[in-house]
Amino acid sequence: MKLDAPLRAGEVALVGAGPGAASLLTLAAASLIADCDVIVHDALVSDEVLAMAADSAEIIAAGKRGGRPSASQDDICDLLIELAQAGKRVVRLKGGDPFVFGRGGEEVRALAKLGIAFRIIPGITAGVAAPAMAGIPVTDRSVNATLAFLTGHEANDDSRMDWPALVRAFPVLVFYMGARNLERIASCLLKAGLDAQTAVAIIHAATTDHEQTTIGSLQAAAAGQLQAQSPAIVIIGDVVASRTIWRDEF
Ligand code: SAH
Repeated sequence: MKLDAPLRAGEVALVGAGPGAASLLTLAAASLIADCDVIVHDALVSDEVLAMAADSAEIIAAGKRGGRPSASQDDICDLLIELAQAGKRVVRLKGGDPFVFGRGGEEVRALAKLGIAFRIIPGITAGVAAPAMAGIPVTDRSVNATLAFLTGHEANDDSRMDWPALVRAFPVLVFYMGARNLERIASCLLKAGLDAQTAVAIIHAATTDHEQTTIGSLQAAAAGQLQAQSPAIVIIGDVVASRTIWRDEF
């Protein structure tokens, strides 16, 4: 099956919308967005991407369904099922890549269980795109042979994170959802033995008009001296210190 073939009635495409700029969509994402009956999107999907929908397409913000502040994952799965069973051609649009901290797995399992046809279109994930905008390669031969993508929601004492093991195994750490917990993340890493002078970059709203990059040290982050506002990628490691600035937007 061609990934960019037109959707059939009752089919759902789980589509990665990339970090924000419409120019970073895949060709398959662009054509499915432009030719579907309904788009169900997350809060992180940019207006620029949504503007590519056909005028006839219904656009549903899954985060604000039915006037409630936030739809549960079950509600979103039910909505996708309902739309598919009504014969709609559905694009489920998610920021970045649908399978990277995006709960895409839960949605495709719910569809597969009922025999609903679906396809998966990967997107450029923020953990790679945001550092690139700041001139930071997430791997650099002289720095790291491994790379960790982590959620910043687990930065507490009873978390599943083994901080000393992370520090030993991964010279570069990329945190999603880390802005709100930055101080705590940095403190955990300091306590786990990471050098206080290790460079930290916080890239907010990468590839959008609001993009902003803040650079500092692990010590400054732990002391609450670095500004971090969601959505932001936090990248920690020597690749940050050796970045090459290539744009003047920040
Ligand atoms: N599936 C998404 C991640 C969803 S989790 C992906 O692959 O990118 C939500 C987190 O993604 C945010 O808290 C933030 O850490 C990150 N994020 C998404 N878009 C971003 C952007 N344009 N700039 C910086 N961070 C972004």
